[in-house]
Amino acid sequence: MALKDVIGQDRPVNILKGCIAKERVPHALLFAGDDGIGKRLTAVNFAKALNCQGMTREESQVTGGFLFEVPEPEVPSPELETRNDACDQCPSCKKIDSRNHPDVFIIGPEGEGGQITVQAIRQLEEALSFKPFEGQWKIAIVDEADRLNQSAANAFLQTLEEPSAHSILILISSRPDLLLPTIRSRCQRISFSPLPVDVMGRLLKEKFGEMDDEQARLVGVLSGGRLGYALSDNLMDQREQCFSIFRQMLESLEEEPWEDKETMEGWFEWSQLLLRDMAVYSATGQEEYLMNTDHAEYIKAVSHGAGLKDILNLARELYNIKRRLAFNLNKQLTYNFVSLLLRNNLGQSGRQ
Ligand SMILES: [Zn+2]
Repeated sequence: MALKDVIGQDRPVNILKGCIAKERVPHALLFAGDDGIGKRLTAVNFAKALNCQGMTREESQVTGGFLFEVPEPEVPSPELETRNDACDQCPSCKKIDSRNHPDVFIIGPEGEGGQITVQAIRQLEEALSFKPFEGQWKIAIVDEADRLNQSAANAFLQTLEEPSAHSILILISSRPDLLLPTIRSRCQRISFSPLPVDVMGRLLKEKFGEMDDEQARLVGVLSGGRLGYALSDNLMDQREQCFSIFRQMLESLEEEPWEDKETMEGWFEWSQLLLRDMAVYSATGQEEYLMNTDHAEYIKAVSHGAGLKDILNLARELYNIKRRLAFNLNKQLTYNFVSLLLRNNLGQSGRQ
């Protein structure tokens, strides 16, 4: 695929294509926005477009800007169309797709702690200090950049302050407020937004012909406009699993905590959605405003017993814990604490 195939992120994609066309690519970029909306996909395809050998950019450099030299054709030829996008065919594009390009690096959190370490940043720095081997640019994509630990962040700041020529850094984050302000301020920020529900519904129906309107709407709503989530096969399974843990906690059953860090993070996401529905029902008494329409009975039962104030309080507490998950909280302790919060705020109502 290429930048033109990234769905629903026209604004950021057009900005990036504009940068390539004008040959003014910022040295450091920050792709900010929710998880699962295409930031990483865009970054990889931007890297492909930057280093693509199928483009005719060399020509424009020699003539000093082709727009002045060559009149715009009425129907752009495929060749010109790819000027600011990847051809997806050349050896460079293929190598980036298979993560084998010697000038494109993708790093992210590693290991138990799920952090980006100072060693990883040092290695990256060294790799960036050489001239590109094959491509025009050395490109580093730092996924979940908010997980740089303290020393890694400081080391990275140096990389940002003393950029090597021919290098482009792309930071990706769904929690850019957790980045050091000094890092944030040195990056050109590109914001990614979730898709509107109706657009999502349409795309899902296009993708899965057999999906009916109600299903497409439900998946669209539940994914929060994040196409990456909506397209993952197990979206509904994840939700079921998280809701069942929610019930289990509320009923104070002695069970194992979340299986792993990912499940724990997912649980916090889904719980917000469940609490949102409980709050809405508690405030309006109307079922039609629920997102998880297929869990209406449970939502109604719990919200009947708990007050709106308690539901909102719980939602706020969970939101605050969710923000701290990046700091590697102890799973068992967090589980116990959250169970207690659930029972204190939602009381007896959830026990059925
Ligand atoms: Zn190419």
